[in-house]
Amino acid sequence: MKPKPESPVATSVMPSPNHGERRGGAPTMLILHYTGMAGASEALQRLANPVAEVSAHYVVLEDGRVVQMVPEGRRAWHAGASSWICGPAGPERDINSRSLGIEIVNGGHDGGLPPYPDAQIEAVIALGLDLSARWSIAPRYVLAHSDIAPERKEDPGERFPWDRLAGAGLGHHAPASPIRDGRFFAQGDAGPPIEALQAMFALYGYDLPVTGTFDARTTSVVTAFQRHFRQERVDGVADASTITTLRNLLAALPSR
Ligand SMILES: [Zn+2]
Repeated sequence: MKPKPESPVATSVMPSPNHGERRGGAPTMLILHYTGMAGASEALQRLANPVAEVSAHYVVLEDGRVVQMVPEGRRAWHAGASSWICGPAGPERDINSRSLGIEIVNGGHDGGLPPYPDAQIEAVIALGLDLSARWSIAPRYVLAHSDIAPERKEDPGERFPWDRLAGAGLGHHAPASPIRDGRFFAQGDAGPPIEALQAMFALYGYDLPVTGTFDARTTSVVTAFQRHFRQERVDGVADASTITTLRNLLAALPSR
């Protein structure tokens, strides 16, 4: 008998041996990735290869088919070294234990950032909504790999349509504030405004220490933020549009 996927959105199961036991309870986050490889079969093979030691719970193909690779209750190996601030306890660092991972087949930055086909995005939305409902995942914890590992990762990239997901009720979003002239902050700047800026990013959840200096880590976090929330220009510079977008996102958060 063929194994049956847990999500009704999924079409088949291709088991990966790359998983372990979750530490610390049920998943509260949903992390989205691109595969960054030439095609679906290469990606599926790699995610099922014990030598590669990587996996995800689900893989969404370009035509919208969804393959389950790891049982939802198990800890898949998709996030790597990563962190996110979920509350006053400080950064959560075992994101694999706290999350479900979806790999989206796409050539990624190395492949010239090909657009995500409609059928694929519709499948991501349906799967994400199903997982969020069954595991009670809050919209603000639907995140990019680049959000939780800003210095290492850039997936699913600045062509990923987060606004469409949010329009369907998946993820937390605010319209990007228009780009215009005005004061901006960039690497090397220091002082109280930088402290305030870093505190705002940390309040949203980015693991950014408040040092008062616009350092390399700050540039990485601003870049990751732009890939997700202000996609028109991804340059690591905290311009007025970036800061206003962040402020609007914070204002739109449900109080916790
Ligand atoms: Zn990734």
